[in-house]
Amino acid sequence: MTESRVSTRRRRLPERPETRGESSVPSSTRRSAPPARGDRRSVWTRLDAIARNLWWSWNPDAAALFRYADPKLFHASTGNPIVVLRGLRAGRREQLEADLAFTTAVARVRGRLRDYLNEETWYDRTCRRARPGRIAYFCMEYALHESLPWYAGGLGVLAGDHLKSASDLGLPLVAIGIFWHKGYTRQRIDEDGNQHDRFPHLPVSDTPLRELRNRNRRPVTVQIQMGDDRVLAGAYRLEVGRIPLFLLDTDRPENLPRHRALVDVLYSGDRDMRIRQEMLLGIGGWQLLQTLRIPVAVYHLNEGHAAFASLERIREERNRGRTPFADALQAVRRTTVFTTHTPVPAGNEEFDPHLVSRYLWRYGRLIRIAHEDLEDLGRVKPGNKREPFGMTPLALRTAKYCNGVAALHGEVARRMWQRVYPREPVEKVPIGHVTNGIHLRTWLHPRMGTLLNEFLGEGWEDRQDDPARWAGIAEVPDGVLWKLHVALKHELVEACWRHPPHTARDPATPAAALDPDALTIGFARRFAPYKRAALIFTDPRRLARILNDRRRPVQIIFAGKAHPADADGKAIIRRIVRFSREPRFRGRVVFLEDYDMGIARHLVAGVDVWLNNPQRPREASGTSGMKPALHGGLNLSILDGWWPEACNGKNGWAIGRGKDHNDTPATDRRDADDLYRILERQVVPLYYDRDEDGLPHRWIARMKNAIATIPAFFNTHRQVKEYLTHYYVPAMRNAARAPQEVSNAAP
Ligand SMILES: *Cc1c(COP(=O)(O)O)cnc(C)c1O
Repeated sequence: MTESRVSTRRRRLPERPETRGESSVPSSTRRSAPPARGDRRSVWTRLDAIARNLWWSWNPDAAALFRYADPKLFHASTGNPIVVLRGLRAGRREQLEADLAFTTAVARVRGRLRDYLNEETWYDRTCRRARPGRIAYFCMEYALHESLPWYAGGLGVLAGDHLKSASDLGLPLVAIGIFWHKGYTRQRIDEDGNQHDRFPHLPVSDTPLRELRNRNRRPVTVQIQMGDDRVLAGAYRLEVGRIPLFLLDTDRPENLPRHRALVDVLYSGDRDMRIRQEMLLGIGGWQLLQTLRIPVAVYHLNEGHAAFASLERIREERNRGRTPFADALQAVRRTTVFTTHTPVPAGNEEFDPHLVSRYLWRYGRLIRIAHEDLEDLGRVKPGNKREPFGMTPLALRTAKYCNGVAALHGEVARRMWQRVYPREPVEKVPIGHVTNGIHLRTWLHPRMGTLLNEFLGEGWEDRQDDPARWAGIAEVPDGVLWKLHVALKHELVEACWRHPPHTARDPATPAAALDPDALTIGFARRFAPYKRAALIFTDPRRLARILNDRRRPVQIIFAGKAHPADADGKAIIRRIVRFSREPRFRGRVVFLEDYDMGIARHLVAGVDVWLNNPQRPREASGTSGMKPALHGGLNLSILDGWWPEACNGKNGWAIGRGKDHNDTPATDRRDADDLYRILERQVVPLYYDRDEDGLPHRWIARMKNAIATIPAFFNTHRQVKEYLTHYYVPAMRNAARAPQEVSNAAP
């Protein structure tokens, strides 16, 4: 990653990126003569190559090319390079071809992408020993960029960030998911605060997906037996840097309509549909890897949705050489990693036994065990006929390497699933933890990136998980950091004024009254009720007093979607939107509709405070608070998920004393009370405590503390390396020791 330098997020090309030190422009492309004809054509080839690798999404110089090519189209398509390239008018194309600065920038970015794909990686340098195969990563959702709406929230963001770091580090990883034709809900909020759900169709031609075809140009397909039906799935390939992501698709004319509809909308439909979606992911994903002859050593099931992959693998083991069931199960376990993300029991996927019988009845026969024994694999207590079939027990039983996503969540998961290991005391339950992180470059505002280059030194990204690297932030003059922060906050408020994009500043909307200089609190995430988005409205009068202090104004920006079927989540949105329209909260409380990664990037770069108040311990990790910390935003959070590991008393604030929520209104009142008290006595006074130079030095000290202490650990480079050392490498060794595991794989 020698070339991953930052420039400011330039609205306009042409100009040299503000890289420090020597220019990254290869001298051969710095020509003064007009481009030759061949070059005119090659600019489009180069742009196409850039557009077809999601690497552009974490390299602002690359994204800037498409923005420059057609700013209107760029914004209208939520920053979709494929749509921009296709939609350019002939006149604009000619202009761009003749625009030497543009064609030069294109050649330079294309060169950087090529270097990125070819250079020796961290993995090459540190794990030189030949490994027996790839890591296959399965997940239901991936959040890679807002133009590819195949995610609902944190799980998808985590998976997307995992792939990007795996790419940067050079891990031999391939990923499996589903192509959601209509993505996830696009939220519209009406006058009364009701969420309306739209599911616009995103055609393949608007994406960088390539359909997989065999040598005869025929689509590659796999078959999944779902009960009595054979379902055919095709697949697409998406390049995420060095990592291929394969997305399965059942929308094919050969399939019954009910199976074609499987891939419409993420997390939609009834249980009958969900079990088939999970069969598609787990079983279809495994089939696809076989069909493509990709040698896989390790299977990583990211959340229980993909656990049917283990059944398919047991079947395969059994068929090969008539392996006894116990041995087949062991072979699968020793090479499977399972990450659980859900400390809420109801959030763990379960299926009625009748659905399992309907769709998996053949599996008992194929695996050559009784159907009851098959069902027992998904039960906490084998033999308990009333217990539904749980994907988490199935995953735990078929994976040797299991983990939660924060230290606290590891503990909770061990307690929660202890009954699956009746012989183990709770502290011996084999569920560890790898604390989540974020892909720093994806979430880093380019201007902050420039500052980090200057004070941490070029190449800091390669050492981002070294805390010593981040100490350099102490050297930033207070005025410099503050000036940047104020600029990013202005950018945020301006983005809110123009939200939804493309609208002029409408003085009638609450957002128009936002004040770029007021203390700004952000709250944005899925509106799952346990996250208690409306907690801060527990005492509206007290809140109004805090927000409307004339000399010390405070404003809160909310964003987030409720699941389309979640009436409680929608009621919370309605409540907040209605508050935002009351005169006492006008311009002080704003709800931005249709939360996505793009809005998230603006928010996390510009807010002063990031609020998080879930019912402890229901937030497995949470990652959103790691994003503002990278920009000096201060977390104000319940001690849940990742925050107990990060909070040192100087890089943010803890709400409450780390007691669990006991589902009584009294606990909500207690937490709300603490939240108000911290705002009144600490946050607001500290923010408005200015010295003679106009700077809040004590606040800035906290900002620096947050930057120095949080991103160094809460990044996906560190996360991916932990998965590698604790789980992937041991599982790879097991795979190497069990030759039958990989014998059918082509080189
Ligand atoms: C980071 C992020 C999340 C995760 O938020 P949590 O507070 O961790 O639940 C969800 N959605 C988007 C768009 C994000 O960027």
